[in-house]
Amino acid sequence: MFHIGRYLIPEKCPYCGRTIEPDMTECVFCRAQFPPMPKVDLLPSGDLCIAPFSYGGAVKKAMRDLKFHGARFNSESLACALAGAIRTVYDKDMDSELITSVPTASKAKGLRRYDQAELLARQAGKILKLPYRKLLKMHPGQSRQVGKSAAERLDYWEEGILPLSPEEIKGKKILLIDDVVTTGATLSACCRILRKNGAERVLCAVTAMAGEYRLALESAVDSSSFGRTSSAGAEHIDENDPEQEKGG
Ligand SMILES: [Zn+2]
Repeated sequence: MFHIGRYLIPEKCPYCGRTIEPDMTECVFCRAQFPPMPKVDLLPSGDLCIAPFSYGGAVKKAMRDLKFHGARFNSESLACALAGAIRTVYDKDMDSELITSVPTASKAKGLRRYDQAELLARQAGKILKLPYRKLLKMHPGQSRQVGKSAAERLDYWEEGILPLSPEEIKGKKILLIDDVVTTGATLSACCRILRKNGAERVLCAVTAMAGEYRLALESAVDSSSFGRTSSAGAEHIDENDPEQEKGG
């Protein structure tokens, strides 16, 4: 988004550190390296997940700087790529009504003063004209589990994540965002909770996929619940209402 500060202080490319033009989110050298096709995979829950990037190299550095070093500006370029991947893969059936994010432990968020998954979801939502809603929260005292198996994490998360406002989930077509997917346990648990609370459809998108993305685009879409969804009403996209955003 435009702000005057960017014209006074030169911004740097989040991927390589070169100074960039005021209207650019990354330098032309890095943009040329970005792969045109999004990564696609199925989560353990059977839900489709897409990403513009695999998790490595310059993308990994940009994401770690966002997560751990307060490089908030990096979220603009990353969210732009995320929105592009969402449009590319989900476009023909892009009738999601709202965008939300995987919750983060409040303690972890406190250290950097923002939740990177929420930041990415809010910015991608602005590009896609989808209102952001906070729908899930972590049970107090829970934190994201590193180093546990996928099955252990799944159990933990099913118990550790709570719906914030079940009435906002019921009957909705939801786009769920996280920064990185590794085992997919976290996103799977969130998908299950959203469906348990009456979500009509959940689509997942992340900025980067760690490890192998196993499926070709066509086969992933065919074998997910997304592929079997009728595209009726595909023209319907809710306009982003700034008034509604205040409640999120
Ligand atoms: Zn660059």
